[in-house]
Amino acid sequence: MACFAKIHGDVCTKHNFIRVVPMKAALLSILLAGLVVLSCNKPEPVVEAKDFAMGTVITQKIYGANSKAAAAEAISKIRELEKILSFYLADSDISLLNNSAGRGKVRLHPETFFLLTKSSEYAHLSGGEFNIMVGPLVKRWKVTAESPDVPSPAEIKSLLTLIDYRDLHLYKDDCSARLARKGQMVDLGGIAKGYAGDEVIKIYGKHGIKSAIVDIGGNICVLGLNTDGTPWNVGIQDPRRKRGIYIGSVSLSDKAVSTSGAYERFFPAGGKKYHHIIDPRTGYPSESDLLSVTIIADSSLDTDALSTTIFILGLDKGIKLIKKIKGTEAVLIKNDGAIYATEGLQKNFNCSAEVIYR
Ligand code: ADP
Ligand code: MG
Repeated sequence: MACFAKIHGDVCTKHNFIRVVPMKAALLSILLAGLVVLSCNKPEPVVEAKDFAMGTVITQKIYGANSKAAAAEAISKIRELEKILSFYLADSDISLLNNSAGRGKVRLHPETFFLLTKSSEYAHLSGGEFNIMVGPLVKRWKVTAESPDVPSPAEIKSLLTLIDYRDLHLYKDDCSARLARKGQMVDLGGIAKGYAGDEVIKIYGKHGIKSAIVDIGGNICVLGLNTDGTPWNVGIQDPRRKRGIYIGSVSLSDKAVSTSGAYERFFPAGGKKYHHIIDPRTGYPSESDLLSVTIIADSSLDTDALSTTIFILGLDKGIKLIKKIKGTEAVLIKNDGAIYATEGLQKNFNCSAEVIYR
């Protein structure tokens, strides 16, 4: 049984550690027993690594002969990406672009250019709800700083004049970009970690890895199957309870899962909680009817951008948008605790509470 538990070690959204998911049905464990014993007899080399980069915790669990090399290459790729994509590092591509706002074009690394392009696509798709031009607001709100404060309505009003997503001009020919007006800033915080997840999966593939999980601050990618031949279980945090308590889990293979919510990065003031996802229409932290959104799709870039977007859009508009995007599923938890999921998850969402499928 110890062996059974070990190889069912899975990950959970937003919480960056490998956990053991107790299997719900005893019957299932009996059925799987033969498989488990086989796996235990021939244990695969496994690497479990925990690092800090991109402002978050990164956990990797990789099975296979080259797992150590794959883990090392993955973390160095993530650190390289942080160097060019960070909103906070003074000499990142993003800082160069932001510091040149209103002054002309800036040549960019192709990966920065790619992410700016994808972000623009998401801005159009979401009618401007996903908007990396929220940079000036993110900087002012500084939600994760040591002593954040609530900006005055006048400050918000003035910053709102800087965030039109159409003011980001992209030039494919020479891989450059320009921000139209002084003071404008882009922030890739809502999409960069997801992109990093996709890159990590490519690196695992290059090393011949067939089974792995990586979690980059709540953006999880699962590769292949667990070593016992079953899908990975990815737990979904209960946004109203303490870290590590789940509302359920999704069984997945070769998928990306991202969660956005208001429950982790916020500061309290005047009886309110001010979190880090900005509604570009108001300039304030989004106040939709959702507590958290988990998106499941093939690409982690997409799940990251979409989880942020849907969180702002709210339940009805969010589900409508998800239904338009083929191969994308979602679990949405409403302010009153009600759990919604898209119909495509009926078979692989394991949840003991009532789920409303839409
Ligand atoms: P996390 O980074 O905690 O995983 P998200 O993926 O939802 O959460 O991204 C939130 C981050 O995205 C914010 O910290 C900020 O950097 C950026 N952001 C905030 N509001 C928006 C928005 N409306 N559109 C795009 N990015 C945003
Ligand atoms: Mg996101």
